[in-house]
Amino acid sequence: MSDQLERLNRLPLRDNLRGLEPYGAPQLHVPVLLNVNENTHPLPDSVHKAIAAAVEAAATGLNRYPDREFTQLRQALARYLGHGLTEENVWAANGSNEVLQQILQAFGGPGRRLLSFPPTYSMYPLLASGTDTEYVTGARSSDFSLTAEAAARAVRESAANIVILCSPNNPTGTALGLDVVEAVYEAGAEYNTMVIVDEAYAEFAHTGTPSALELLQGRERLIVSRTMSKAFALAGARVGYLAAAPEVTDALRLVRLPYHLSAITQATAVAALDHADALLANVEDIKGQRDRIVSELTDMGLRPAPSDSNFVFFGGVSNPHAVWQGLLDAGVLIRDVGIPGHLRVTAGTEAETTAFLNRLRELV
Ligand code: PMP
Repeated sequence: MSDQLERLNRLPLRDNLRGLEPYGAPQLHVPVLLNVNENTHPLPDSVHKAIAAAVEAAATGLNRYPDREFTQLRQALARYLGHGLTEENVWAANGSNEVLQQILQAFGGPGRRLLSFPPTYSMYPLLASGTDTEYVTGARSSDFSLTAEAAARAVRESAANIVILCSPNNPTGTALGLDVVEAVYEAGAEYNTMVIVDEAYAEFAHTGTPSALELLQGRERLIVSRTMSKAFALAGARVGYLAAAPEVTDALRLVRLPYHLSAITQATAVAALDHADALLANVEDIKGQRDRIVSELTDMGLRPAPSDSNFVFFGGVSNPHAVWQGLLDAGVLIRDVGIPGHLRVTAGTEAETTAFLNRLRELV
């Protein structure tokens, strides 16, 4: 045991945190970073200038606490989401990770269970342990798909208090049909289960893929979580948000820290949303690179999963760690998600994608 771990173990840490590893994809400094599903396109000039001007204006008022209700931001997010939503339906926090954490603080906790379907976003179990919520899992099919029937059965068997459905799912990339969300919601009626659909990657879905936003009307236990970190290319600003019934946002007001969204964050996000069209213009390009990765990996004899996101999960890799290392040696960082025979790569710019594909072709 390392000295540091031994010292940590002497502290009165909560039992359910003992032995846990912090979340952390490697943050390495290499030329081509395709490991954490960021939007690798730089912000358009006009947008970063507008953000800088908004931040400068906000800086003059930094002696005061920010708008605790971030009303302007909630209005802008509701306008962006459409579907008849208003600011009453919208909540935001520092990244969708914090949004999810607040949901678990309000609806999870000791004696309560969170259900999810691995392989899925690796933060869910950590958010559960951080809030002392039990984490339970339901099974996917061998091709990592999830049927409405299997998902509903897992809800009934676990009697979960909270379910997270990730769609498009990280790390596999594939979106769920709304039938799965509806079935989970219905199965959860008996246990008053809160159902979260994590749509962090929704903007990258194939045209016609429906969003769970369509189901919100009349479903007060349903929450759709989104982020500005991916399609909006704003990961560094830390803005995530959700849409739900107004009573859900009231519940989150009970657990949020006062003034949790800084004036700088609010100004940044509102300015970005004012320029949503320019920011989202790169989404089509990223989808094109994503589809190119899927088709070229297939040509290489690998097995990419169908992707509705800005990344591709692929199988058929005989030695994932060696391939990961071989790419890194050439300055291309992708993600080994720890699933045998598989790796995950973010779709970058055309040049980044080419660098990845060229090197991969040499390695497989
Ligand atoms: N959900 C999913 C599925 C993700 O992949 C991520 C980021 N990797 C997040 C939520 C959190 O993103 P953020 O906190 O930047 O909004």
